[in-house]
Amino acid sequence: MAAVAEMVVAHPQTEIGEVLSPSQVRTWMDCQARWMFKYLWRLPDPKNSNLATGIAVHHALGANFAQKVESRRDLPVEEVVAAYREAWEAAAAETDFRDEESPEELRSKGEELVRLYMRDGAPRVQPVAAETSAPASALIGGVRVNLRLDVLEADGTLIEIKTAAKSPRAIEGAHAIQLAAQVLCTPGATGKVRVDTLVKNKMPLLVPLEIEMKQQELLAPEVLYPLAQAGMRSGHYMPNRTSMLCSRRNCAFWRACEDEFGGRVEES
Ligand code: SF4
Repeated sequence: MAAVAEMVVAHPQTEIGEVLSPSQVRTWMDCQARWMFKYLWRLPDPKNSNLATGIAVHHALGANFAQKVESRRDLPVEEVVAAYREAWEAAAAETDFRDEESPEELRSKGEELVRLYMRDGAPRVQPVAAETSAPASALIGGVRVNLRLDVLEADGTLIEIKTAAKSPRAIEGAHAIQLAAQVLCTPGATGKVRVDTLVKNKMPLLVPLEIEMKQQELLAPEVLYPLAQAGMRSGHYMPNRTSMLCSRRNCAFWRACEDEFGGRVEES
């Protein structure tokens, strides 16, 4: 663990976790060692194909909603698809595709998702703020948190758009904490949240799930974010080999993790 101690000395403790994002805290909650490799050691974390698709879809739909705040109209679908293709090329250049993956097929699958959302999702969204606006920032439990919101509607509903390989049945616990932090950081958000998931099935699907963040849900980030910050500053980071993402396939840091903490990380 000598390397861990050295890294903590290299970063004054009060600077570690000074400004957090919900995704950083989610990484911390899932595996402290992965947080350390990514945010403290800053080891390379190449994208996988799922992330590349998610980034490109998000970028294209975000560009549509950013202009819709003023125009009140969706862009022509082909314009949004062109924005997707451009974003995909940029993301694909930084992606580690698996041998069995075809970047071309993955690109066109993402394009189908964009077309689906522009047909079935976008027309019923009227944003008053959207992704490319200035980042939202707030103190949560005394911790500075910055994030970029997806879409905020006039009635205070936050809309998050994501891609997934499988249909979600519910908004799971760690995700709900992340959404609660987004509500706390977004002026005008009332606690109503909708997660629109674009599922990469053979036949693509749009699955909307709604959740209402009340006092109990909003309490979680207020309590957990300062605990996470204190943990990040402690210099003691546990690997979570029981994480759903703990495998050589899903964690770019598996070699460093075996070197640092011993044991073997499963293949998949
Ligand atoms: S290999 Fe597993 S335990 Fe190690 S950092 Fe990655 S997710 Fe965490």
